[in-house]
Formats: sequence, C-alpha cells, structure tokens
Amino acid sequence: MLRRTSLAGVPAGRYAPSPSGDLHVGNLRTALLAWLFARSTGRDFLMRMEDLDDRSAAGADARQLADLAAIGLDWDGPVLYQSSRRSRYDAIVDSLTAAGRTFECFCTRREILDAPRAPHSPEGAYPGTCLRLSPSQLDEKRAVGRPPAIRLRADVGEFRVEDDLHGSYTGVVDDFVLRRGDGTPAYNLAVVVDDAETGVDQVVRGDDLLSSAPRQAYLATLLGFAVPTYAHVPLVVNAAGVRLSKRDGAVTLEDLAVQGVSTQYVVNAMARSLGLAVEGEHATAAAMLTHFDPAALPRQPWVFCP
Ligand code: GLU
Repeated sequence: MLRRTSLAGVPAGRYAPSPSGDLHVGNLRTALLAWLFARSTGRDFLMRMEDLDDRSAAGADARQLADLAAIGLDWDGPVLYQSSRRSRYDAIVDSLTAAGRTFECFCTRREILDAPRAPHSPEGAYPGTCLRLSPSQLDEKRAVGRPPAIRLRADVGEFRVEDDLHGSYTGVVDDFVLRRGDGTPAYNLAVVVDDAETGVDQVVRGDDLLSSAPRQAYLATLLGFAVPTYAHVPLVVNAAGVRLSKRDGAVTLEDLAVQGVSTQYVVNAMARSLGLAVEGEHATAAAMLTHFDPAALPRQPWVFCP
C-alpha cells in the first residue's frame, strides 16, 4: 500500500492526466490551477498517470511531464502510474465482493441504453438489469463465456459533495462499474483508491468531472476513506464555446511553437485568464502563487482561440 504522503503527514493535491497524447492549453490550465490550489495551501503536489486503459500512447507521459515542467509546475516524489497498481484495485474490488457489495453485470453498452427505465431515472444511469439475476439466470449468462463487469451495489441513489467553487452539489450514484469485463479497473474506483492511499485530500480538476464526484465520494465513504475537498474548475473552450480539443488546431505547446507562439506567451495568457497577471506582464507560476485567491477565480469558461 502507498502511504508516502499520509505517513509524512503532508496532505496533497494532485494532477492526474490520462497519457493519451499531448496536453492542450485546457489541460495545462487545469494543471496550473491544481498546482496553485495545492501549493497555496501548503500541500504536496502529486503527479499521477491514469494509464489503465488502452488509450495510452507511447511516450505521451514523458511529453506531458515536460510540458507541465515547461509552464513552471513541480511535483513531489515519483510519478505514480496506475498500471503499477492493478493488484491493489483488484484487492479492493475483491474486498467489496466479499462484503456483498458487488454484482456481475453482463450487459452491453447498447443493452444499458436501450433498457426500459423508471420515468425519472437519469440518462445513462445503470437500469439495474443484472442486479437481481436468479442463480439459474446467472449460470446461463456465465455459460455464454463473456466475462462480466463488476458493479458496485450502491445503497443510495444520490450523494452530496461540497465543492469550493460550486458549493453543495448533489448528483447521481448508480450501480457503477468497478472493474470492466476485460479486467480493467474502472476510473471511478482507481481514482478513489489512489487519492486516499497517497494522502490526496484536495481534488482540483475540470468541471466536466463534477458529476463523477458524488459516485467517488460515496465509494470513498463506503471504503472508510476521508472524502477530499473538491474544486471543479471552469474548462477552456473554443470560439464556439465548445470544450477545447485537439481538433481545434494548434492547442498544444508543440503545435503552438511551430506557429511561433512561445510557451511564455501561453503562460502569460493563462495567467491573465485567471486574473493573475495584467496585459504585458511576464507571468510565472511562482509569481501567480503569491496572489492566488480561489475566491477571486473567474467562474466562466475561458475562450482560447489559437
Ligand atoms: N484522468 C482524468 C482526465 O484526464 C482526470 C481524473 C481526475 O482528475 O480525477 O480527465
């Protein structure tokens, strides 16, 4: 079990990219904010590669770390790779299974979308198809040979979290997947286990993940872990107001450099977007830290037009 930071007694924040390609300006700004929140509150700052699924691209981790360092971020201790922790996630799923808190689910994505659901059941929430299979139905499903996903048997329908920027937020908790049919630990499980076991007590990330926080906080509570504080920060969007993506052209440091846009220009623009530098100012992460105030953060998405 990993206990470096918790043993040292130093609480931590973190940035946890999926190494599927180069970080774009939106990712970099979220990382900068996570770093500012952690460092301005005396926390360690941990780096974690969420490399469990097959979207990981060779070398992307090293390029992401180089770009994070290039915008002035630093982190404590070695980078944690989730792929090195699979036996730990399996052990947690097994302990939940032993406690009667999981079930096998044989549904395909299509079956879940097509399943009849109660009138007010939220879009995408698990409709409960495999929850009450009889022993003979279970045998039948197992005999087909497609390995089941393992889902949590949740005993609430929603859960409330407190967010530094959004206040109290109540969101859906369904019988979400803990381990996929192909054996891959699910994001919602790994994130909870890793945050708890590395001493992370402050989660700062994009506000597209706000709706995942109730599931994660509920699971943390079930596992006896403290729930971290949350700050879900506004995303960076393109001129059309849509979340920035690689399709928007030159949005990574490398692509921008090819177009003659320096890393310093990007740091300056990010600092101005956070109200932490004025036009013409040479910004650095370290200087931003001296006057960072979460309460003064702009709550609107930042429009980035490369
Ligand atoms: N790996 C996730 C992402 O890149 C972030 C997960 C998290 O911060 O909880 O979107």
